[in-house]
Amino acid sequence: MKYIFVTGGVVSSLGKGLTAAALGTLLENRGLKITLQKFDPYLNVDPGTMSPYQHGEVYVLNDGAETDLDLGHYERFTSTKLTRYNNLTSGQVYQTVLDKERRGDYLGKTVQVIPHVTDEIQNRILQITEQSKADVLITEIGGTTGDIEGLPFLEAIREFALDVGYNNAVFLHVTYVPFIKAAGELKTKPTQQSVAKLREIGIAPHILVCRCEQPLNKELRQKISMFCNVPYEAVIEEKDVEHSIYEVPLMLQRERLDDLICRLLRLDAPAANMSHWQDIIRKIVAPQHRVRIGVVGKYIELNDAYKSVYEAVNHGGIANDCGVEIEKIDAEEIEKYGPEKTLKGLGGILVPGGFGERGIEGKIQAAQFARERKIPYLGLCLGMQIATIEFARHVLKLSGAHSTEFDPNTPHPVIALLDEQKRVTQKGGTMRLGAQPCQLTVGSKAAHLYGAFVVQERHRHRYEYNNAYRSQFEEAGFCFSGTSPDGKLVEVIELKDHPFFIASQFHPEFQSKPNAPHPLFRGFIAATHAHIHHRPL
Ligand code: GLN
Repeated sequence: MKYIFVTGGVVSSLGKGLTAAALGTLLENRGLKITLQKFDPYLNVDPGTMSPYQHGEVYVLNDGAETDLDLGHYERFTSTKLTRYNNLTSGQVYQTVLDKERRGDYLGKTVQVIPHVTDEIQNRILQITEQSKADVLITEIGGTTGDIEGLPFLEAIREFALDVGYNNAVFLHVTYVPFIKAAGELKTKPTQQSVAKLREIGIAPHILVCRCEQPLNKELRQKISMFCNVPYEAVIEEKDVEHSIYEVPLMLQRERLDDLICRLLRLDAPAANMSHWQDIIRKIVAPQHRVRIGVVGKYIELNDAYKSVYEAVNHGGIANDCGVEIEKIDAEEIEKYGPEKTLKGLGGILVPGGFGERGIEGKIQAAQFARERKIPYLGLCLGMQIATIEFARHVLKLSGAHSTEFDPNTPHPVIALLDEQKRVTQKGGTMRLGAQPCQLTVGSKAAHLYGAFVVQERHRHRYEYNNAYRSQFEEAGFCFSGTSPDGKLVEVIELKDHPFFIASQFHPEFQSKPNAPHPLFRGFIAATHAHIHHRPL
């Protein structure tokens, strides 16, 4: 196994995760088996309990782990299937160390950051090494060099690299080269200082990936090379992308990053053929069609909060050779100004997942607008619950119908808690999580789109469709097109007399990739396209 450690310097939000994922794409296309792992220095056990404002989206894996959104990039950019062991937080490390201490495993020793915490971190690298049987493991260390909480992770990878020896581990540092407008130049000092900080800890990076808004010229590369003690060809330019994040692998290939990595790690792998990836970019840059989709949410000012949703919508666009303009609509604005004003001219409406009461009525209005005006609608998790409540109130005339999450005393709890969820008292990791089978109904639109009758999709929710109302809904044209195999849990719903109104209790967005767009998103974009051109689907 060869190891690549990705650290970040100067500022956060440089796109370390994207860089790691894009490098994964390149190595995989050179025929290497790769896997990726993320270390997060915060003390939460996982991000499942954090607000999207703090953390962005919580990405859910097949095994139900609630993880950092960078794991979403890893899965979208590569073919690796990740598990809960691919995301390690300080919280998990300390929990394990403290459990061991209480059990007496340390046999009377003083328990310390070095070696006990650092050993635990290294154990996780070894565990992935054994489980994955990959050729290369890319480990991304969250946070920025210089953070106090990141130190144990940096110390652990320093020791680890020493153990595995030369040619087996590479340190790649993602740094920032800002453009100072007043001076009209790019500045290398922050990079120099951040590398100095790393070297203080004992890590001398082999490669610097320089994030910049302007190209690095020869002099700048030479300067960075000299002051940071890395060879000239190891100063890699990573400019802001023009159209799409999927350009990053191609950009890094042009900079010969993967060649350099293979040379440093003594990996004998042919050059990557990226022609299929170039095709994807071509479709993004110059699509045949264009459509505007409204995503009605609560955290819309935050780009990261619905990351996988936005990506999956774009994948649906790629599948249809259709450029998608995503309009982020605040559900509370719909409440204030009405759907007519806020949702005008959209090709399709999407209501993603969410928790808490704020904006719920606006989302219900959006679902009603989509149903009545026959605008394509895709509901994800909360988006399905919203569609159910809307239908109950306005078609079945069950006034006051609601989810017990938002109104515990509703006369018509069309969405409610299962008994097993009622007994749950802890918040972390207690939802219905991860991949579950779903049986699709013969003849349904969903089955047609999937081209299958049993699918596996990922979940993250507590509340469910209330079966007491099933026949009433069904008689009015609300179809249950997917359920758990025992038929007890509603997984997908769709409307009969509507060009495209589909919603799922699961999160299909977590399994969509640019080179394998998810069927529901493919179908949604195809429908929006047909809708604006008044064509049959
Ligand atoms: N709040 C809803 C529930 O817990 C929906 C969750 C979601 O959209 N992820 O069931």
